[in-house]
Order: sequence, then structure tokens, then C-alpha cells
Amino acid sequence: MSLVAFLSGTNLLIVGIVLLVLYVALLLVALAYNVVRDARRRSTSILFAIFAFLLAFIPPFLGALLYLVVRPPRTLDEERALELEQQVLAEPPSDEPETRPCPTCGRDIEQDFVICPYCRTQFARRCGVCERRLRLGWPVCPYCATEVGAHPLPPAPSRSAAPH
Ligand SMILES: [Zn+2]
Ligand SMILES: [Zn+2]
Repeated sequence: MSLVAFLSGTNLLIVGIVLLVLYVALLLVALAYNVVRDARRRSTSILFAIFAFLLAFIPPFLGALLYLVVRPPRTLDEERALELEQQVLAEPPSDEPETRPCPTCGRDIEQDFVICPYCRTQFARRCGVCERRLRLGWPVCPYCATEVGAHPLPPAPSRSAAPH
């Protein structure tokens, strides 16, 4: 049987239909692939991805249109960027360090200071392990539980210890 004879009459019709079906099937698979990929970008839910996959096969391509309507408006990346942006906007500008008055001279000093830079009154020290600020009376660091001794003042900074 020659090719021409094979492609004649009803055979030609069948081949045409098969090709058309294959073409539509390929199109649907490509569509479903893209719809699912888009769904994964917009939602972490596996159920939503399955829902999108099923939607993609509603003929004739109505499902894909439907998907465009019901999908989340933003991708997860866009969502994250937006969240970060809102966080930045919500935070008050914190360039001013928090201050308190020195117990001895009353001048404003930063919360984190362990010694007043104006009158050199020492009112705190730092934990040798975690570097956090400890009150002089504390025998143990409340942050990392290091024993820091009863009252010994830490070795004074070399500058202020210079003999006069
Ligand atoms: Zn002071
Ligand atoms: Zn500590």
C-alpha cells in the first residue's frame, strides 16, 4: 500500500483528526504546565497547584481564563518584597540612640554605656562572655549565666587608668 493510497479517503480524515487531537492535547499539557508553574509561584499550597492543574483542562481553554481570575494577584516574591517594604515604612527612624541621665552628673548618656564619658562614673560593666551590660551588683550574668564575681570592677580601660 503506497503512502498516497494510505492518506486517501477516510484514512486521511482519521490522520487529520489524530493530528488535531494530538495538537490540542499538546497545547493543553503546555497550558497546564504553565498554569501549575504560575500557581507554584503564587502559593505554597499544593492543593492550589492541583486545583490549577485541573482547571487548565476545562475545555475549550475556559479553565485557563478562569485560573487568571481566581489566582492570587501577586507572586510570593512580590508578596515578600511588599511585606519588607511595609516593614521598613512602619519602623520609626531610630537614628537617635536612647539616652538617660547619668546618675552622678545628670548629663545625657546612652543606655548602653557602662561608664559616664563626662564624669567617669562607672555604673555598670560588661559580661566577659556575652558582652552585655551588667549592673555592678550582679554576681552573675543574667543573659548567659556566667559567674562574674561579687563586685570586682573590671579592669579599667587603659586610657582612664593612666596615672596622673
Ligand atoms: Zn556623669
Ligand atoms: Zn553574659
